[in-house]
Amino acid sequence: MPKHIFVTGGVVSSLGKGIAAASIARILEAKGLKVALQKLDPYLNVDPGTMNPFQHGEVYVTEDGAETDLDLGHYERFTHGTVTRESNITSGQIYYKVITRERRGDYLGGTVQVVPHITNAIKEGIRELYKNKRLDVVITEIGGTVGDIESLPFLEAVRQFRHEVGRENCLFIHLTLVPYIKAAGELKTKPTQHSVGTLREIGIQPDILMCRTEKKIDKAMKAKIALFCNVETEAVIEARDVASIYEVPLMIKEQEIDKVICQKLKIEYKSGSLAAWKKNVVEKSLHPKHSVKIAVVGKYIELQDAYKSIYEALKHGGIANDSEVVIKKINSEKVGSAKSLEQFKGVSGILVPGGFGMRGVEGKLQAIQYAREKKVPFFGICLGMQCAAIEFARNALDMKGAHSTEFNKKTPFPVISLLEEQQNVKDMGGTMRLGAYPCLVKKDTLAYKAYKAEEISERHRHRYEFNNEYREKFQKAGMKLSGLSPNGKLVEMIELEGHPWFLATQAHPEFKSKPDKAHPLFREFVCHALLYQEGQSPKSVAAGSSDKGKEIKPEQEKGGVSA
Ligand code: GLN
Repeated sequence: MPKHIFVTGGVVSSLGKGIAAASIARILEAKGLKVALQKLDPYLNVDPGTMNPFQHGEVYVTEDGAETDLDLGHYERFTHGTVTRESNITSGQIYYKVITRERRGDYLGGTVQVVPHITNAIKEGIRELYKNKRLDVVITEIGGTVGDIESLPFLEAVRQFRHEVGRENCLFIHLTLVPYIKAAGELKTKPTQHSVGTLREIGIQPDILMCRTEKKIDKAMKAKIALFCNVETEAVIEARDVASIYEVPLMIKEQEIDKVICQKLKIEYKSGSLAAWKKNVVEKSLHPKHSVKIAVVGKYIELQDAYKSIYEALKHGGIANDSEVVIKKINSEKVGSAKSLEQFKGVSGILVPGGFGMRGVEGKLQAIQYAREKKVPFFGICLGMQCAAIEFARNALDMKGAHSTEFNKKTPFPVISLLEEQQNVKDMGGTMRLGAYPCLVKKDTLAYKAYKAEEISERHRHRYEFNNEYREKFQKAGMKLSGLSPNGKLVEMIELEGHPWFLATQAHPEFKSKPDKAHPLFREFVCHALLYQEGQSPKSVAAGSSDKGKEIKPEQEKGGVSA
């Protein structure tokens, strides 16, 4: 049986439990331990696939086709492991399972209750992760904040879990906030004390505290937190704001969090080196030689989390090219007029990410036309590829009104249409073409140059596809079909002849990029953006920062569901 680490969060949400859990996993992996990560989410949706990105941020797709929480992206980026369907459990799944059993009559007339039926199903879900696997450590992150009503069954379940597996096999790490109060000029420990107090009321005494803070937490303050929260001083770990999330494993290892973990879980202590991570990831992100500005044109750009994996993959592409990637976030709804195209000045690459629904599509088409005509490197992902096909049909093939049938069912030129397998699909949840599918790459293409392989595999999440009726017309006009499904039926990648780098893929390569191993398409895209920049003005190094902090408009638009 593996050792277990449960990560909870207190005081406020968004403290970065996912990054904390992933960082600990990285440190333990460096010791040669086999680690798996898992997230328990308290909401009642079965998965986030039907949620609006404004509610939830990005939906992360696993190899085996589950639509999951974006923290799973951190798990895969920080470690060597691969997440699966079992790596994300929601209250929705747990209740669904229990109610299905009840309807089947499995409970034999008993009253079905949160304790023990829901809590037992949660414990089952945790064990499911390591069934038939040899793992040394399982790290389980519990979503939400301690004190929330909805996370109570999860906390009760893991309290019981510890009792069942024994203290030497299970430990609790609690992530809290130690805020700096400007007026007093002081860091405050009270919220942490309260948060640990709430956790103790539920019967959980944390073993390690990770304290998010803007300022240094000195020894005396660590001792104070330790005393009032009933943990050892060495078990109070400062988690200070850092310039790059990839610094977190180094920062907490320096404070020997791993020593405390090994000692409490009775794991033989081996130091394990993060030197390669430091050299190849952290140093490279903090001190790049070059800088390049890339535009991401989407409708959720106000939200940091909506294109999380895309932004990370761009950073990885930067690391591989010894360059900072300055991301200019452009709201596709604000692209239209000739004047609005001025936003692309100084931009050396344009990326159009995936998406659902009509809103903002025309702006994406404009951005793609700009990239195609001005020969700016272009990378289209999923809806980004579909838009590239629509734009090409309308403006290079003179097919006025060309569209995807997702947006206009009566278009005279349906260059993008519903996948055959989707024709009779009625339910919205988990019914897209999901997960990893193989693709054959044609030689003598940009795609082949990047992948250096004829057969590749990428993750998908879509209902629509390139309409095969238009293959010939596109090819004749210079749009190569550089990747096809092995049976030749689906167009997976397209690219433009006579353009320095114009490539679009139906898949989501961003999910497979790692900071120490950039995805080949992101690596090549950033490389060509640098070349473009050099060609524009050898001395001009892009400057400026991302456009954050715009007003967020909540809306009733569900990922993959509505227009
Ligand atoms: N809406 C498009 C489809 O369903 C694209 C999906 C996406 O970008 N993930 O095919």
